[in-house]
Amino acid sequence: MKIQPKNPHYLKVRRIVVGGLAGCAVLAVLLSGRSRGPSPEDITTDMPESAVTGVTEEDAIPGELDWEYPEGWVDYSDLPAAETLGDENQPGLSNWRYLLVNGLDRTNYMRPSYYPDMTPIEAGYSFQTRAAESLRAFLSAAREQGFTVSISRTYMSYQDQKTRFNGLSSTLYDQGGITLAEAEEEITRQGYYPGADEHQTGLAVNFVDENGDAKFSTPVLAWMTEHCAEYGFILRYPEGREAYTGHKAEPGHYRYVGETAAEYIMRKGITLEEFKSAYDEEGSVTFAW
Ligand SMILES: [Zn+2]
Repeated sequence: MKIQPKNPHYLKVRRIVVGGLAGCAVLAVLLSGRSRGPSPEDITTDMPESAVTGVTEEDAIPGELDWEYPEGWVDYSDLPAAETLGDENQPGLSNWRYLLVNGLDRTNYMRPSYYPDMTPIEAGYSFQTRAAESLRAFLSAAREQGFTVSISRTYMSYQDQKTRFNGLSSTLYDQGGITLAEAEEEITRQGYYPGADEHQTGLAVNFVDENGDAKFSTPVLAWMTEHCAEYGFILRYPEGREAYTGHKAEPGHYRYVGETAAEYIMRKGITLEEFKSAYDEEGSVTFAW
C-alpha cells in the first residue's frame, strides 16, 4: 500500500472555527483557488468537543444533503467495521496504532460505524482506551516541567463530520452558479468529506496553552514536539509536509502511533503517510536509521 500522494499540489489553506472555540478548535480547510468557495471563517457548526465511551449515534441526520460515497471509492481495507480494531499483536500496517486518515486521496477514511472505545481523560475529553494511559503520561510530563497545557479536542464523530460536510456544501451551493453535486464534489476535494477527519479515530488530540494558544513557538508545544515520541505521540501535521498530509500545519495536533513508530517518525521528521510507505518497503516495524 503506497500512501504517498501521486500528485501533490500546493494547496491554499484557510481555517474554520468550530464550535465557537478559538485556539486549537480550528480545523484546516484546504481551499481551491476558485473564488466561489465558502468563507470557512464564517461557518460555525455545533459539534461536541468530546464523546464518551460507547456513544451511539443516529444513522440519519436532518439536512438537505445525504452523503453517500460514490461508487469506486476505496474503503479502508485494513479497518474492521466495529470498534474492535484488532488486538495488540495485529500485524503490519493493519495494527490499530497506524490507522491512517487522510482526506487527500479518498482512500483512507473512517467508516460511519467506527466508534472507538473511549476512556475519559479530563475536562470532558476522552481518548481511545488503548492509548489513554499514554496521553495521561504525556500531559503529566509536560505539567511536571511547569507548563500549563489543556486539551481542546479529542474525538469527532462521523455524524458531526457529515453535518459539517452538509453545511459547507449547502453554503457553497447557495452562492449560486453550481449544482449541489458540484458543491459536494468541491467540498470533498477540499478534504472535508465525512470520515476524513483524524479526530474520529479517538487517537488524535489537540493541545493549547494557558491562553488557548497553539503555535509552533508556544513554549509548551515546543517541549511537546521534542518529547512526544517518548509517550508514543507524533506531531501529526508538521510544517512543510502538507503535500503528504493534505492538511495545513497544525502545531497543537498530536496523534498516538505507539513508541516505535513515533520515535522513527519524529527522528526522521516525516509523517504517518511516509512512515506507512517506508513500512511497506521494509516489511517490518524494525527500521534502520
Ligand atoms: Zn486536531
